[in-house]
Amino acid sequence: MVSLNSHKKNLYRFWKGEILWNKPMSQYSTLKVGGPAEAVITATDIDELTGLIKWLKENEISWWIIGRGSNILVPDKGLPGVTIMLEGKFTGIEKLFDLQDQAENHVFIRVGGGCSLAKAVNYCTANSLSGLEFAVGIPGSLGGAVVMNAGAWGYEIGDLLDSVIIMNGKGEVHEVQRDGLDLTYRGWGMKRDTILLYACLKLTINTQEEIKAACSRFQELRKKNQPVNELSAGSFFKNPPEHSAGRLIDEAGLKGYSIGGAKISEKHANFIINTGNASAAEILELMLLVQDKVYERFGIKLEPEVHILGSGI
Ligand SMILES: Cc1cc2nc3c(=O)[nH]c(=O)nc-3n(C[C@H](O)[C@H](O)[C@H](O)COP(=O)(O)OP(=O)(O)OC[C@H]3O[C@@H](n4cnc5c(N)ncnc54)[C@H](O)[C@@H]3O)c2cc1C
Repeated sequence: MVSLNSHKKNLYRFWKGEILWNKPMSQYSTLKVGGPAEAVITATDIDELTGLIKWLKENEISWWIIGRGSNILVPDKGLPGVTIMLEGKFTGIEKLFDLQDQAENHVFIRVGGGCSLAKAVNYCTANSLSGLEFAVGIPGSLGGAVVMNAGAWGYEIGDLLDSVIIMNGKGEVHEVQRDGLDLTYRGWGMKRDTILLYACLKLTINTQEEIKAACSRFQELRKKNQPVNELSAGSFFKNPPEHSAGRLIDEAGLKGYSIGGAKISEKHANFIINTGNASAAEILELMLLVQDKVYERFGIKLEPEVHILGSGI
């Protein structure tokens, strides 16, 4: 797979929509670091995306799919090839009446991969649908949430999934039932060139009062325990089995430790924050230091939860 180089003109001729050239990825990442993406393209429906993925495959060009950039670390040298984002039809939400199982008090909704979790939570609240309250304050997209099997306070998005519609690296579209996704703690088992187009969520009917109360409770917990006003990608490391990554980092004496503009949050040691002018290299250096110190002290290797984008698809 290669960067665009000699294919720039061909891409310009092929793609009818807007192409953003050399856009700093810091604009698309909540950590606000990362060098330029060679080209950024927004796909608005399945036909557009199929054409694009097939063209990229034929021309052997690297590509990336991102959501809201709230769980990625992009290197300072940027991303070669095409960075794809989902908009338009991929941001919609609809009720699937044919699947509705009144007897069990369940409602099924289909949410686009580019839809923000905030919009999905608001939709659920407005329609008296319970299940997604835990996602209040998670700043990602539905696509990113399914790929990460995002979760909080003991709940995971995977628990709500009925099925998904995905596109593979050849531009083919398939429906996959929940069990076929091999969901794990903060991940799914699909190949890296899989794009989440739509997810069908199974929700429970409840009163708006109870849904709103749960959302407020989770929001308060977040504000109390996490550095919500700092630049971060959320929890940087996965919790090792039987351990809390934040506690291990704290007990290794690293709370508040910084390298350049990258700092271990004083409020929650599993958050690496950008104090304003961090580079991706500084964040990576701090990540390695944390891994070394925690390993030295406890013999536990912390694994990043944040996806470090390196070589493309
Ligand atoms: C302040 C803060 C709090 C957070 N709290 C939580 C939390 O409580 N729980 C939690 O689990 N996470 C949390 N996160 C992390 C993050 O918000 C979630 O993992 C979120 O689901 C990522 O979604 P995204 O759209 O931003 O994905 P991105 O960061 O854009 O991408 C993440 C990965 O998913 C892939 N991806 C994105 N969209 C698609 C798609 N449509 N198809 C295929 N692959 C795709 C990307 O290639 C990348 O590998 C937090 C982050 C922040 C900044």
